[in-house]
Amino acid sequence: MKQIVVISGKGGTGKTVITGAFASLAKSKVMADCDVDAADLHLLLKPRIKERHQFRSGLTAVINKDKCTGCGLCSELCRFNAVEENFSIDSISCEGCAFCSYACPVKAIEMKENIAGEWFISDTRFGSLVHAKLGIAEENSGKLVALVRKKAKETAEKINAEYIIIDGSPGIGCAVIASISGVDCALVVTEPSLSGLHDADRVIKVAKYFKIPVKLVVNKYDLNVDMTEKIEEYCRKEGVSVIGKIRFDKDIVRSMVDGKTIIEYSTGESTERVKAIWERLRECSSKDAFD
Ligand code: SF4
Ligand code: SF4
Repeated sequence: MKQIVVISGKGGTGKTVITGAFASLAKSKVMADCDVDAADLHLLLKPRIKERHQFRSGLTAVINKDKCTGCGLCSELCRFNAVEENFSIDSISCEGCAFCSYACPVKAIEMKENIAGEWFISDTRFGSLVHAKLGIAEENSGKLVALVRKKAKETAEKINAEYIIIDGSPGIGCAVIASISGVDCALVVTEPSLSGLHDADRVIKVAKYFKIPVKLVVNKYDLNVDMTEKIEEYCRKEGVSVIGKIRFDKDIVRSMVDGKTIIEYSTGESTERVKAIWERLRECSSKDAFD
């Protein structure tokens, strides 16, 4: 089984358009949406939820009002000012350190697990999708991404799937590290702009650090051909293959509005280019990893 992740230095580069296209091209696969903060693969894949689970992560103090004597010790000790005047806990400020629960003389404070989001296994017209939603103001996206990856692997093993196609988290934080760790190949999608080059550089450095084979695609390359050449030059220096360039194509925009992948929507140039990218990506293996 081969795990392929599509990543970008930031959101909005066309990463999900390309992941969705791969989902319609690969014959035997499970999809994983690891963009848990701003998931949008579901807009293309229109999942029908089969399983829904709570994602529990971290602890929050809860005061039992029946036991509390109002001595004020917890409020004095909490470094995060999470104890409110009426001796209840502000769950947003509480860091879950449990100091108050150890200190409370009448054992009125219990530490409870937070429900930090939800994860799902769904059916789509292309097969199973594992996806998730992190709760508002929750910070454990790396842990939730790791959970989505684990469940996608279990699902793929059950049906002996050839591929796991992962829509990675954008950026370079712990969520993206959880998205790319242990994959067979990472495809970086970037746009031809200075910030696109900068973002690609950051994410390629993360992939190199973890010795993940990495390839690059320039999306909307014709909007700035000079910048595209700069990105290609950068890739040559870094030893990263540019395995495709896609034009700015109104068909791609129309396909998204229609809720279809570009492969389903059109037989035009972009579809042919994405198909060629997929074929090159299929050849990528661990021997392409950085030393
Ligand atoms: S330390 Fe315990 S008893 Fe004192 S105010 Fe806090 S919860 Fe109540
Ligand atoms: S668990 Fe820590 S952060 Fe939360 S209320 Fe108690 S002392 Fe404050």
